[in-house]
Amino acid sequence: MRVLASIPEARGALRALRRPVGFVPTMGALHAGHLALASSARKRSASVVASIFVNPTQFGPGEDFERYPRDLDGDRAKLRDAGVDVLFVPEPGDMFPSNLSTYVDPGAVGASYEGAARPGHFRGVATVVVKLLHVVGPDAVYLGQKDAQQVAVLRKVLRDLDFHVDAVVEPTVREPDGLALSSRNAYLSPEERRAAPSLYRALQTFLNAMQGGTKKAGALKAARAVLDAHAVEDYIDLVDATTFEPVLLAAPGTVAIGAARFGTTRLIDNIAAER
Ligand code: AMP
Repeated sequence: MRVLASIPEARGALRALRRPVGFVPTMGALHAGHLALASSARKRSASVVASIFVNPTQFGPGEDFERYPRDLDGDRAKLRDAGVDVLFVPEPGDMFPSNLSTYVDPGAVGASYEGAARPGHFRGVATVVVKLLHVVGPDAVYLGQKDAQQVAVLRKVLRDLDFHVDAVVEPTVREPDGLALSSRNAYLSPEERRAAPSLYRALQTFLNAMQGGTKKAGALKAARAVLDAHAVEDYIDLVDATTFEPVLLAAPGTVAIGAARFGTTRLIDNIAAER
């Protein structure tokens, strides 16, 4: 596996790769969810590129940018074992020089839910992914369903800006107790870790109730009874998976989404309605 840091060097090396090229963008601190994206890319591509970049522009003031977990040595070994051909690890100052003034704003799809809780988050995500796609030039980008609104935002960006890049979305990888794997799970105290799977259980309860014909208010009440008493709900809702507008009926193409705080750690999760 080649590890490249400079943008010009990466551009040259990546242009020579055999196609199709599959690309897995990450912020590192890799877990089995990230590696599932890498192995899916490995199966479907002649060449696999991964990136590790803790993107400062998608963190708000007071968020965890500084203390976001970093483990480049461990990540490198995991990606090599997953069959990744090239790892791109750009420098923050190269990706976002101080005079950078052009940003990609995805509009309404990124304004609600995570976008409302984290102003500027999706502008930062969209901008860095567009920049990475320009450097890497892949045929497909591999994304996790775990970040359902990010998927909706990036699909919209790819369509709106005429990228010739497929988005391949892989299912959320979970712990045996249902907790979605996340680099931020490392922040949880043992007690918070025990409480954290209640977000997934609350979303299951919510979606089951909606699919059984219960109105949203009733389904929310049932979900809140399942969420751990110490968790602070940010939102639970049913939305259209493409637009992220709230909907009233659970049907294919809709997704139950939730965010809650366990201590100081904010976790998100979602379950797509498949019937
Ligand atoms: P991150 O490093 O958090 O920016 O995530 C990089 C990619 O991995 C994104 O496409 C995420 O949606 C995906 N991802 C993160 N956690 C999981 C998970 N538990 N299962 C599947 N994909 C995931």
